[in-house]
Amino acid sequence: MNFNKKTVRDIDVRGKKVLIRCDFNTPIDENGHLTDERRIQGALPTLRYLITSGAAVIVVSHLGRPKGQYNPKYTLKPVANRLSELLKMPVTLANDVIGEDADRLCAAIQPGEIVMLENVRFHKEEEKNDPAFSQKLASYADVYVNDAFGTSHRAHSSTAGVAAYLPAVCGFLIEKEISVIGKALTNPARPFVAITGGAKVSDKIGVINALIDQCDTVIIGGAMSYTFLRALSGEVGNSPCELDKLDVAADILMRALEGNVRLVLPDDVVVTKEFSPDADAYVVDARHMPDGMGGMDMGPRTIEKFKRYLKDAGTVVWNGPLGVFEFDKFAGSTREIARAVAESGAVSIIGGGDSAAAIEQLGFSDRVTHISTGGGASLELIEGKELPGIACLMDSDE
Ligand code: AMP
Repeated sequence: MNFNKKTVRDIDVRGKKVLIRCDFNTPIDENGHLTDERRIQGALPTLRYLITSGAAVIVVSHLGRPKGQYNPKYTLKPVANRLSELLKMPVTLANDVIGEDADRLCAAIQPGEIVMLENVRFHKEEEKNDPAFSQKLASYADVYVNDAFGTSHRAHSSTAGVAAYLPAVCGFLIEKEISVIGKALTNPARPFVAITGGAKVSDKIGVINALIDQCDTVIIGGAMSYTFLRALSGEVGNSPCELDKLDVAADILMRALEGNVRLVLPDDVVVTKEFSPDADAYVVDARHMPDGMGGMDMGPRTIEKFKRYLKDAGTVVWNGPLGVFEFDKFAGSTREIARAVAESGAVSIIGGGDSAAAIEQLGFSDRVTHISTGGGASLELIEGKELPGIACLMDSDE
């Protein structure tokens, strides 16, 4: 995929109506309060740029999974209110997406103003990438800007479909994602070390194979590692293990061996009898976990081993927690690795979600190169897949 895309800087937006796709899929509690506003904060630079450049801005986003119909639980009202506070200007929320209210507001909007359409997933056509729906959205504007990296791996109307009808460029968030990740992948500082964790091998087969093609060392931790240990005839007790993926794990181990890539697995693990936050914990050999006990975290020797590879790394890509970090007692390895990545001095890219949260919780956000705003999208980028929401944007002239 071409990583050189035109951005908002490359086109004249003065006096134009700009339809911008943001990712405002933000957690909201039962009282309608935002519990995490990072995605709103992340969109501010592009929105401010458009406003101060004299554009009339029409914001489109989804929130949650309303399943294609109006549901007040998923209104963007709390988002519009917060955005208005942060930008210190009115943000008018239409009470529909392509209905009368949206028609009226988008017709009347003036340069320097912001209108937000209601949750685009109130229409089932959105996720079907329905051409008529895309065309209707596009009819509100002169230019399309995609700044929703987290949904750019989806071919939906508002993330890709509209680009067929309007000049299409990216905002600053997507620009940063593709330039940092693209650069790290095309010309990585070496050694290039990847750390993968999380629950399932099946979710990560594609990305691990892609990493084996590119990295010098691939570290496999988290619950996923138990399937690899089992494939090597280890005893994994009651640990989560995908028995139907043993051949996949064996194949990955073989590919790493043939490609001369170091594939690093845990030496010791923390196990418990029950899956609970304060269960008694024991450190055991990773390949000899006792019957009746299951893995919850990486052990101390493993943490030290993983850290050794991170210390000299030139580039680090990290995705997925290494233990049951939701329970404080078993968050140790995820925290230690977050610290090691931050202290490594390497070009460091943190995939979204849990690993990003661990880095932020520890206050290390400023010490890593890039925290991706999209877990799934960043993995697909690493895999070398074409992301519809990015592929649809105009290529840069350079
Ligand atoms: P994922 O959604 O694939 O990123 O997986 C995250 C989940 O995997 C988390 O909810 C963790 O509790 C779980 N997990 C990660 N590491 C381990 C581990 N070593 N043992 C058991 N569960 C784990």
